Amino acid sequence: MSTENNAPVVSNFIRNIIDEDLASGKHSAIVTRFPPEPNGYLHVGHAKSICLNFGLAEDYQGKCNLRMDDTNPEKESDEFVQSIKDSVEWLGFKWDGNVRFASDYFDALYDYAVELIKSGKAFVCDLNAEEMRAYRGSLTEPGKNSPFRDRSVEENLDLFTRMRNGEFPDGSKTLRLKIDMASGNVNLRDPVIYRIRRAHHHRTGDKWCIYPMYDYTHCISDALEGITHSLCTLEFEDHRPLYDWVLDNITIPCHPRQYEFSRLELLYALTSKRKLQALVTDGLVDGWNDPRMPTIEGMRRRGFSPAGIRLFAQRIGVSKGENIIDMSVLEGAVREMLENESPRVMAVLDPIKVTLTNFDAAVTASRSAPFHPHHPEFGEREVPIAREIWIERDDFAEVPPPKWQRLTAGGEVRLRYSYVIKCDEVIKDADGKVVELKCSIDHDTLGKNPEGRKVKGVIHWVSAEHAIEADVRLYDRLFTEPRPDAVRGDDGEYVDFRQFLNPESLKTVTAFVEDAVLKAAPESRFQFERLGYFVTDRYDHQQGVRAVFNRTVGLRDNWSK
Ligand code: ATP
Ligand code: MG
Repeated sequence: MSTENNAPVVSNFIRNIIDEDLASGKHSAIVTRFPPEPNGYLHVGHAKSICLNFGLAEDYQGKCNLRMDDTNPEKESDEFVQSIKDSVEWLGFKWDGNVRFASDYFDALYDYAVELIKSGKAFVCDLNAEEMRAYRGSLTEPGKNSPFRDRSVEENLDLFTRMRNGEFPDGSKTLRLKIDMASGNVNLRDPVIYRIRRAHHHRTGDKWCIYPMYDYTHCISDALEGITHSLCTLEFEDHRPLYDWVLDNITIPCHPRQYEFSRLELLYALTSKRKLQALVTDGLVDGWNDPRMPTIEGMRRRGFSPAGIRLFAQRIGVSKGENIIDMSVLEGAVREMLENESPRVMAVLDPIKVTLTNFDAAVTASRSAPFHPHHPEFGEREVPIAREIWIERDDFAEVPPPKWQRLTAGGEVRLRYSYVIKCDEVIKDADGKVVELKCSIDHDTLGKNPEGRKVKGVIHWVSAEHAIEADVRLYDRLFTEPRPDAVRGDDGEYVDFRQFLNPESLKTVTAFVEDAVLKAAPESRFQFERLGYFVTDRYDHQQGVRAVFNRTVGLRDNWSK
């Protein structure tokens, strides 16, 4: 990632720690991991974490594991596992060895729990959830010891075995660590490490009716994989003492170090799987991969390129400070990468018919044009002209505003890669709407300036006879509020973020586009000249049959003004 765009490596506190650990000989190589829970599709916040973890492994020639943190069977599925793998690969990263699963370690985790019981550091507790809450205390008051805390090792071993064997109902018992109910850190107040839950697991099926908790599972999984630097977001800072406590109190040869960085928050988007899931479940978007979703699959379908997202991750940096980033930063990075990657063609999204009255097949010539002004290797194509062409409705103004350089009644404009034309007549329907322009070609202007006058404006166009029809989906931001989940009403309560959905976030039009695009494969990115970047839809575009485009982003930021 550092060599891409020849951008210099921007250091951060994590790189500094790694540099020191390598220099001091603490580690000879680094191992990181990306540990998503397969309970949804990955979003742009995960992209930050992926670029960080896999990017560090690449830069330091270390390794990065992909580990599914699958300890909540009810919410997890193979569909989510598959989409997570796809997203990581699509971003251009390669995990070390096979995909790993926390559930691969269920036996080991059980054995460590037995070890903790034997050393008197874990006990089976019969308090129910409500009682447990009452005993836990608060941020200002210490908790109270559970009445079951002093069970003998033999009794705990017997009860834990029977928990595993399914002798007790769900929720009736837990296994807890014996740390300190008076600790200032509530995470250390005898945390639960196992609960009884009869739920079918997407990988272990019905083998287990007890499942380990996240904090307990995570540190041991890291240690079993020989992770050197375990990077997570800031909300886990208070969990670090527990991470270390568990590893210090079991027989395990490796003790990874946890470091926290701030979560990415992207304005005009949501970065919570739970809230994104709500949009999908309520049918407010067209699935997790809707091009308006800030999911990696959504961004992919929208036409964002992996290089653009990686550039974005590089720009937003890694620190412990707030990481609230405007959407324009993401769109800007994407646009910058697309500029050089995308062939350019002409398309008319909102057409008016222009009849070229003096078109003469024997005289009027077409030219060929490069697909990219700075990349001759992209090739060229003929841009055919015909008697009837389409131009963009807003490139014509009957009553032009000051400094207008496009077409107007009696005025002239150049057709891109073609002639200068003059508008001689404006034809309207009964409602006064312009339906056609009759224009004449100045045949002496192909590839040269007209004699004795300047024509400044250049507009895009397509030949009616040669262009193809394409379905074009014009996407815009999904929300009208920069922080849709942080708006409070008069009563001080959060307003439901679904109220701030942008009703204009999707408009579909039938456009006319140069026929070259019909041959493009799905997920081909183009610049439509003067309009923006567009991609052939990954699912609906049918090569050679039917063109379907999604608008990725405009040519410039239209939101910040
Ligand atoms: P969500 O709240 O969306 O469910 P999560 O943190 O619960 O997110 P996980 O699947 O546990 O989702 O996340 C996997 C990894 O991605 C974790 O290491 C987590 O810290 C990181 N991550 C999640 N969201 C962000 C974010 N917004 N910015 C940076 N990293 C993130
Ligand atoms: Mg999580």
